[in-house]
Amino acid sequence: MAANGSDILVIGAGVIGACTAYELSTRGHSVTLIDQGDVCAGSSYGNAGLIVPSHCVPLSEPGIVKQGLKWMLDPESPFYIKPRLDRDLISWLWKFNRSCTDAHVAKATPVLREMHLNSLERYETFAEHLDFSYEHKGSFYACNTEAGLEHKIEDARIAGRTGIRTETLGPEEIAKLVPETPVSAVGGVFYPEDAHLQPAQFVRAIANEGRSKGTTIESNCQVLGFESSGRKVNAARTTRGDFQADTVILAAGSWSPAVVMDLGLKLPIQPAKGYSITFKRPPNCPSLPMMMTETKVGVTPMADTFRFAGTLELAGLNLTINQRRVQSILNAMPSYFPEMSADKMELIEIWRGLRPCTPDGLPLLGRTDAYDNLIIGAGHATIGISLGPESGRILSQIVEGREISYDTAALSPDRFA
Ligand SMILES: Cc1cc2nc3c(=O)[nH]c(=O)nc-3n(C[C@H](O)[C@H](O)[C@H](O)COP(=O)(O)OP(=O)(O)OC[C@H]3O[C@@H](n4cnc5c(N)ncnc54)[C@H](O)[C@@H]3O)c2cc1C
Repeated sequence: MAANGSDILVIGAGVIGACTAYELSTRGHSVTLIDQGDVCAGSSYGNAGLIVPSHCVPLSEPGIVKQGLKWMLDPESPFYIKPRLDRDLISWLWKFNRSCTDAHVAKATPVLREMHLNSLERYETFAEHLDFSYEHKGSFYACNTEAGLEHKIEDARIAGRTGIRTETLGPEEIAKLVPETPVSAVGGVFYPEDAHLQPAQFVRAIANEGRSKGTTIESNCQVLGFESSGRKVNAARTTRGDFQADTVILAAGSWSPAVVMDLGLKLPIQPAKGYSITFKRPPNCPSLPMMMTETKVGVTPMADTFRFAGTLELAGLNLTINQRRVQSILNAMPSYFPEMSADKMELIEIWRGLRPCTPDGLPLLGRTDAYDNLIIGAGHATIGISLGPESGRILSQIVEGREISYDTAALSPDRFA
């Protein structure tokens, strides 16, 4: 079969693959970006679009396991694990539990902080010449219980220790921050550094920018396996023939472990399903993203739309839509926004996506020990949009062997081996 050739083959055209292809093409490499669907066919399409320096504390923080077990008893809870005897899931949960320590938080937080803030800076630059409905207005976590507020203030304290700005607000200050509609909350935390965007608009724009710098984009091109010899991946076998490259970058999100199984690699990534429900923007829509803290449901105003997002289900590579969970996301609204109701809004789209979650809340970025020319860029969990531009830059630096200005050892894909 005839082979297509380039310096670099990037597998997966979500936010990570598209940003990586852009960075490398800008630096003069010949890059081919392939996807089994179209550009932005996966998790990068319908997410909440938040850029979150506020999330510099990893998902696997102490106390989360206890909270998670409590939620699992409630069928409408924001967190769910489908009970099953799956060795990969059991091993993942064991590693997750092992990562829920103060020592891990202390190690992971500085690298996450650096990545979020560098990405934010990148987004500011991109927004000067690309339209992706970018707005830098911060985000607000509304709490309607004293216990929720106390917990959020503690989170803010941890983020604050790393230099992330936070402001605790009471009801009167909330009314000033959100004049569009009354908010029923005992208080909350405002993160002024956070920003938001329309994710699909961004990913398509940056993929197009890459194309204008020379990236070849192949859609509907599914990787079926690889041809390798010794420590070298020679070609990717796809539904559209073989693709040869000096370097292969895997950015296939939640599908990454399945894609490289053929190479004998085991990537500790579990898909965590989440939903979004997008409506036409109502007249009393808040002008900044807000999290309804106790329910873990967020709302983001995006151009002329208004998006709800929430739930985290560890149910494997399963894209079915559970209407009960969709409804539980919408049910969160009235207790925080008494004058808003999803029933009165015009539905545009119900969507679900799979967050590629690692056990320690950090992405896998780097070369593997097993293959000299394979680089992994996956496992961005709940923060792939926020980390996308910086991950693309780090991956391009790894390709070229350039020095990264901060310590990224914690991101090594082999750290769980
Ligand atoms: C409800 C929800 C809300 C979220 N909100 C936010 C948020 O506010 N902020 C934030 O930062 N993050 C958020 N996230 C997380 C974010 O969406 C992900 O971290 C991010 O999209 C991951 O990007 P990716 O490029 O790694 O994966 P994806 O976008 O999933 O891209 C992977 C691509 O690989 C392709 N692919 C898979 N297998 C193959 C194959 N065999 N051959 C070729 N191509 C293949 C897929 O088609 C896909 O296009 C949210 C996620 C969800 C589900």
